[in-house]
Amino acid sequence: MSINTEWFTTFPRHTFNSYSYYLKSLYKQRVYRISVDAGFTCPHRERSINNSGCLYCSDHGSRAPYLGSETDIRSQIDGTILFLKKRYNAHVYILFFQAYSNTNAPPEKLKSIYDFALDCAPFKELIVSTRPDCIDEEKAKLLTSYKDRGLKVWVELGLQSASDDTLIRINRKHTVKDYLNAYALLKKYGISITTHLIFGLPGEGEEEIMKSVEFVADLNPDGIKIHNLHIRKSSPLFKTYLNGEIVLPSAERHRDYVISALEYLPQETVIMRLTCDTPRDDLASPLSFWNKSRFYEEVRKEMEKRNTWQGKKYTGYISG
Ligand code: SF4
Repeated sequence: MSINTEWFTTFPRHTFNSYSYYLKSLYKQRVYRISVDAGFTCPHRERSINNSGCLYCSDHGSRAPYLGSETDIRSQIDGTILFLKKRYNAHVYILFFQAYSNTNAPPEKLKSIYDFALDCAPFKELIVSTRPDCIDEEKAKLLTSYKDRGLKVWVELGLQSASDDTLIRINRKHTVKDYLNAYALLKKYGISITTHLIFGLPGEGEEEIMKSVEFVADLNPDGIKIHNLHIRKSSPLFKTYLNGEIVLPSAERHRDYVISALEYLPQETVIMRLTCDTPRDDLASPLSFWNKSRFYEEVRKEMEKRNTWQGKKYTGYISG
């Protein structure tokens, strides 16, 4: 097994390749993501009879809460930059199309929206979040064209689980094959990909979670976002939760799932998220979970205690 030991000796305090560490290494300063809701919708919701989407999804489709009711793209960007400058003296930014499916429009319309937003500030990266069944060759070509402007381009692809049975159970309305097709297409155009997984989905325990992690690890992913399942009051899952049919992993259990996942992921994979964020007024459960910084601290502490690290069990390093 050939493990990249340089990674540990250079950065001994890091037990995993966190997003903030990755950005600081790349840009040598703090970089801030600016989340934009460009008014895209979700094709899955559009196709469904009563506009219902994935069981865990809220009416806002991951819109950043700090945007309030602002709909104008320039105002969203200007407002966020103003805040970041005042509070953190920020001056390096990444543009993040976050809410709903941000490739859900014809390529010409996508181009005009992306161009407009990118012209609002000197961004270093473009991140576009979408569904695996909402990307095609023309859209991939458009996205990769932004690299010619010197931008790093990422697509965030929601997989959530590598089990088709689970995808049906949570009403994702796409298959694992759809995800693989989208992944291959984006890779063909040299676009970096962040995969989203949710731990604690109905019908899934440690075995199913680790199967999803190993499936993603086999792709040698650029980035991953791990979410612990949140029950939003505005999601269809809330009713199931009220009926007592869902038990969510505790903070300790999610920490253990996360550590196991990190051990199986390549060291180079950027860990962009380990927990879910939900506005407090929409969150039904879990209500007593550790906050984000405590969660990261507990993961690091426990990994040090267990003498483990990201990539310790990644089999992709085995050669011959
Ligand atoms: S989670 Fe994404 S794909 Fe699913 S309904 Fe919500 S916006 Fe659509």
